[in-house]
Amino acid sequence: MFFTSDTVALVTGASRGIGRAIARELAGEGAMVVVGYNSNAEEAARTVAGIEASGGRAVAWAANVATEKEVVALFRKIRSELGRLDILVNNAGIIKDGWLIMMGVAKWDEVINTNLRGCFLCSREALKVMANQKRGVVVNIASTSGVAGQEGQLNYSASKGGMIAFTKGLAREGAPYGIRANVVAPGFIETDMVKRLDSSRLKQYLEMIPLKRMGKPEEVAYLVSFLASARAAYITGKVFTIDGGLINN
Ligand code: NAP
Repeated sequence: MFFTSDTVALVTGASRGIGRAIARELAGEGAMVVVGYNSNAEEAARTVAGIEASGGRAVAWAANVATEKEVVALFRKIRSELGRLDILVNNAGIIKDGWLIMMGVAKWDEVINTNLRGCFLCSREALKVMANQKRGVVVNIASTSGVAGQEGQLNYSASKGGMIAFTKGLAREGAPYGIRANVVAPGFIETDMVKRLDSSRLKQYLEMIPLKRMGKPEEVAYLVSFLASARAAYITGKVFTIDGGLINN
């Protein structure tokens, strides 16, 4: 097991996709996992049931990560009911693609607020707990779009690029308190998010991936749990792409 039995982890956006796989993996490695979600209580409960069926521990608690009041309330609940927080995975995220020339402010704001503001709010609240403990790990799920920049999704690319710079700064601020922070930047991973992409565009992207396939949520989860574990004790402020060789960075 990577984690001791008193380890508490919060994974935002764990009702589906990559977040669900990360929650399963962390729970499988011994952590008590808070399955964060926005509105899909049924799917979040399914994540918890899957973890419990494999002998793990999890609870599903909702918070819109873009809303300060909800995030503060979630962390208050974590402190009062679980007493600590060792691992935060900022995974909740959305895409609202469109060409820049036609992009309305609402589409820009929604993506920046969920992906970047959400990461800021959750990290700020987590740090208050972790700094007191003198121990903690943050793993932020960005994207290859945030490393390389992707046409047709400048709002998303900016939000993920922002998360990367944020994490590098967080690694420096957190280090004196024993807190590490790293970024995992996936390419194309088989989830609902990718299913929503235009099929001809998706086919084009697949051609560009040297390994000629999409990644699986579990493959991202293995990297996240390694980075969250003591095995990665000397790794902080770094960006790890996991993309079948898609981009050079
Ligand atoms: P997904 O299947 O669409 O799931 C998104 C998750 O985020 C859901 O659990 C959703 O909760 C939650 N969420 C959305 N808005 C939220 C909000 N305002 N507050 C709290 N939770 C919210 O997405 P995914 O493909 O697993 O992606 C997970 C992360 O990986 C995202 O940050 C995404 O940008 C990143 N990523 C994905 C890919 C890919 O190819 N799939 C590639 C690179 C990066 P509800 O179920 O309650 O709506």
